[in-house]
Amino acid sequence: MLDISLRTGGLVAALALLSVSLLACSDARSAAEERSAEAVVNVAVTIVPQKTFVERIAGERAHVQVLVEPGADPHTFDPTPRQVAELNEADVYFMVGEPFEQARLPRIRAVNDRMRIVDVTEQTVEAAQQRKEREQASLAKHETPVGDHDGCGSCGEECKGCGSCGEECKGCGSCGEECKGCGSCGSAARQPVVLHHCPHCGDQDTHTWVSPRLVAEQAKLIAATLSDLDPDGAEVYEANLAEFLAEIEELDREIQSKLADLESRTFFVYHAAWAYFAADYGLTQVAIEVGGQEPNMGDLARITDLAKEANVRTIFIQPQHDARQAKTIADEIGATVHTIDPLDPDWTANMRRVADALSESLDGQAAQ
Ligand SMILES: [Zn+2]
Repeated sequence: MLDISLRTGGLVAALALLSVSLLACSDARSAAEERSAEAVVNVAVTIVPQKTFVERIAGERAHVQVLVEPGADPHTFDPTPRQVAELNEADVYFMVGEPFEQARLPRIRAVNDRMRIVDVTEQTVEAAQQRKEREQASLAKHETPVGDHDGCGSCGEECKGCGSCGEECKGCGSCGEECKGCGSCGSAARQPVVLHHCPHCGDQDTHTWVSPRLVAEQAKLIAATLSDLDPDGAEVYEANLAEFLAEIEELDREIQSKLADLESRTFFVYHAAWAYFAADYGLTQVAIEVGGQEPNMGDLARITDLAKEANVRTIFIQPQHDARQAKTIADEIGATVHTIDPLDPDWTANMRRVADALSESLDGQAAQ
């Protein structure tokens, strides 16, 4: 009797288990069907411009969750519980390396173990570096290195840093400038950037999306990742990628010619978001923030002197930060403050606006 009831109990339990797993199966299936009606891939990104990039590549095939909404500062952001819940549905997260990502993503992945995490900053900077090395190697094959080489770098020889070739600094350090080691110039070689203050000192500069050349690498990374997750969409992703890359190339050429011939090549910003842009176009960024923090009185005095020396006419601020100190310096040296936004959703038009603003400010800002 006891034996039978136990067996019956076991059978009931087995049936209950079976029906639970059948239910779970149909739940998963209906969730997948629901997603595929509109979007095939659930993508999560950190900042608004990344949403623009993913949508350029994926069109309707991706649902994009952006964590840092307009107006918020990515460096001090923390996601809401609702955002964390939505992240549990993500197929892929394109991270940029902000502190909240470092803190949150491992825990989110513990819940959502099928979510892929792609480190955009690390991978795009590396891809750009490899591309540069390949280009230099192929140039070296066509140019004969001379004994007393002057350092244009194109032959692959180490730059001697005398500057007499008229080429922009390749970062060998031999010019005597102290390298700040922040890596924010985009080079693994840690190029010296005059008075550059990295907001994430000792860490990688995360603002790669302000460089059209690095955005080209990011676009390739997005297309490859989406094609891998959704092979049926690969053709769409490839076609959209090709179109976007052509647009970026045109933008890059346009900005290059806009910024080619300026009286001064040094610009002052409150927050050091533009180092990759500066590196692409041979400009130097000087930031008022020191190590991502408000400067002290000594820093302020030093930066004010520098700005006077460089005859700075504009100090660039961004809408996410309190820029009272930028205004104080501007007032003292008779300059104006101008807002440029690294997080604008209309990325292409915004890059043009930024180039125009820099060109207007630096042309006529004769360095003394
Ligand atoms: Zn920033």
